[in-house]
Amino acid sequence: MNTYPLGKSVQHDFPFFELNPGITYLDSTATSLKPSVVIEAITDYYSRYSVNIHRGVYALSVEATEKFEAVRKAVLNFLQAPNEIEAIFTKGTTESINLLAVSLERVKKELAPFFSNWQSGLEKDDVILISESEHHSNLVPWQMLAERTGAKVVYIPVRADGSLQTEFISQNEFSHHKLKIVALSATSNVSGVVHDLTPFRELARKNGAIFMIDAAQAICHAETSWAEFSADFIAFSAHKMLGPTGLGILAGNRDVLSVMPPFHGGGDMIALVKKEGTTYNHPPHRFEAGTPPIAEAIGFGAALQYLNKIGMKNVEQWEHDLTAYALAQLEENGWHNYGPSSDDVISGRVRKAGAISFGIEGVHPHDIGTILDETGVAIRAGHHCCQLLMQSWGVPATARASLYIYNDRDDIDRLIDGLRMVKKIFKK
Ligand code: PLP
Repeated sequence: MNTYPLGKSVQHDFPFFELNPGITYLDSTATSLKPSVVIEAITDYYSRYSVNIHRGVYALSVEATEKFEAVRKAVLNFLQAPNEIEAIFTKGTTESINLLAVSLERVKKELAPFFSNWQSGLEKDDVILISESEHHSNLVPWQMLAERTGAKVVYIPVRADGSLQTEFISQNEFSHHKLKIVALSATSNVSGVVHDLTPFRELARKNGAIFMIDAAQAICHAETSWAEFSADFIAFSAHKMLGPTGLGILAGNRDVLSVMPPFHGGGDMIALVKKEGTTYNHPPHRFEAGTPPIAEAIGFGAALQYLNKIGMKNVEQWEHDLTAYALAQLEENGWHNYGPSSDDVISGRVRKAGAISFGIEGVHPHDIGTILDETGVAIRAGHHCCQLLMQSWGVPATARASLYIYNDRDDIDRLIDGLRMVKKIFKK
């Protein structure tokens, strides 16, 4: 039972609902809606102290700098991160992973003290292990890195319900001493499955490889902690957790980041610039060239406060109940549910966040999306930036409804009514 009422009880915090009466928003996996407190924090920055940070000696610049840096601390608190962890502000999960991939390409043997398989930089036939379930953000940057270095990307296959085939480790032949990077999402944006990463983490640890988590869909839907992730790096985006677009985080160990080469060059990331060359600032600033997303960070601070007030355990419980309700209805109507079954979710055999991929036989997901839109229900249809997963499932696309704290059972009922209409139109 939920201790904190969500759904309709929080809708008044989101101007979207007043401005879009009658819309059922079921696309929060793509981006979440923003509460007034976030919008107000951004407006306050732009209207009252819209000045640059770090370089100014005047009071307003000091205020902006303090507010910006306080958010960095709030992020680390939210992650329950120990002291040795740094949070780098990026543009989003995508940029966080690109930053990591580019910096790792430039590493020679500086990482050897931390990761025993990194006695040299990436070389021909080194292995980057990801999965077929990855969002293109955690896939294409690794393919590009492999192209540039001669390393190869190895893909963990998925099961029919979207979970990762853990048996792959014992069955696969790739040489473990060549394993340099394991990069996996904690929660799928398509099936909603919360992956069991333990065997893959152990594989990375046993071999002295880097273990990175794409937490874009994990951190916004459940209470998570640095200890639980137990990763070397994690990446996520603010806009999926009530914060602004254009802001993300890459978090990692300060000592490791201290030996890693920068991503972009420019202001703020330097220690000393001479004609002969430049020395670089300490992390996190080394990785934050130029004026950072100040307003976005300040808005994100307000989003974190809002989520902290609700409590992430309550967020998870609310979504769990709604997801189970939605899955049961899809199954009852005989429509295809691409992720774990309602039984699996209710019994706890599989953990799942509120991203629900489904289909109606003989109806293209885009038609489902278009008809639902006419009934005021906003869902997403397509490959969801996960073409490998679609290929593995043998479908071009799925329809996806995704839930967050402002949704409730009425929204699911409207979705199901809309799907009945689709069925009627297509006589399926
Ligand atoms: N990883 C996952 C699992 C995602 O769901 C997304 C966005 O949907 C991303 C990465 C990319 O996030 P962004 O577009 O904010 O960089």
